[in-house]
Amino acid sequence: MTSRDTAESVLVVGAGAMGTQIAAVFARAGHRVTVCDVTPDALGRSRTEATTRLTRLGEKGAMTAAEAASSIERLAWTTDLEAAATAAGFVIEAATERLELKQDIFGRLGRHTPSTTILATNSSTIPSSRIAEASGRPDRVCNVHFFNPALVMEAVEVVPNPETSDETIATVLALIKGIGKSAVTLSIEVPGFVANRLMTAVNDEAIRLYSQGVATPADIDLAARLALGHPLGPFALMDLVGLDVIYLMHQATYEMTGDPADLPPEALNDLYRAGRLGRKSGRGWFDYTS
Ligand code: NAD
Repeated sequence: MTSRDTAESVLVVGAGAMGTQIAAVFARAGHRVTVCDVTPDALGRSRTEATTRLTRLGEKGAMTAAEAASSIERLAWTTDLEAAATAAGFVIEAATERLELKQDIFGRLGRHTPSTTILATNSSTIPSSRIAEASGRPDRVCNVHFFNPALVMEAVEVVPNPETSDETIATVLALIKGIGKSAVTLSIEVPGFVANRLMTAVNDEAIRLYSQGVATPADIDLAARLALGHPLGPFALMDLVGLDVIYLMHQATYEMTGDPADLPPEALNDLYRAGRLGRKSGRGWFDYTS
């Protein structure tokens, strides 16, 4: 199977925040895309959001209105994973972040997709080695990790498991190039991959400086923006991502490494326990209520 064949029909499993925009990215690039979720409600929300976002790209001139309309026409929606799998040339799973759930999905994909189909997971914390065996074809499984919001962010991390074949990685890299994204290729699986590792290192150092009384979150953010040229300071970024997400990323890394240094920093624990989760809850490191 060539990368062109693989590109023809894409199945996205999970119609949440990530699956919706990943589907729109592939449809925009000319692929037929089926989006599958367990609930019709999620599919309905996803369909509305993908349609709105693609239409808006047409209105803003990022593509013509006709291109936006044909991108929307290339999208299909279903709750029937097994039927959708039979026609899939490439699968990207973006379902809820739970190991057993993903193992179950990969088992079903392994039974119902053509034997040559590549099965990728968008998981941020679960390496594909933990789900690849369930598919019966671990050589055709890897992590393909998009960033939020997927329609905007250009980077995609590609992470092989120890059994992923070179041919699979080559096909995935061609696919990513074809959708206008830039691949960051890892050689081995590590918790957090590359981008989230860098982000976590900066976040943790920022929290350490604050906890030691060196400077306030506002001043640390100022240094990141005005001295280092970061578009957002680490505290503002954590509040935007959600302190629950940051907390769970620490926990997931700790579960994989067993290294106490990977546990959430105490100041982050305090905010998490107090329900101060950042912008989504009105307060995090900063106050957004006024
Ligand atoms: P989400 O909660 O917004 O969406 C998950 C969707 O999966 C839901 O609609 C749910 O109904 C669906 N689902 C659950 N079980 C399913 C099943 N058996 N079959 C089909 N669909 C099922 O989650 P999200 O934020 O889109 O994250 C999805 C994946 O993407 C996770 O693995 C996460 O680690 C990864 N990820 C998230 C982000 C982010 O910033 N949110 C960034 C990169 C990667």
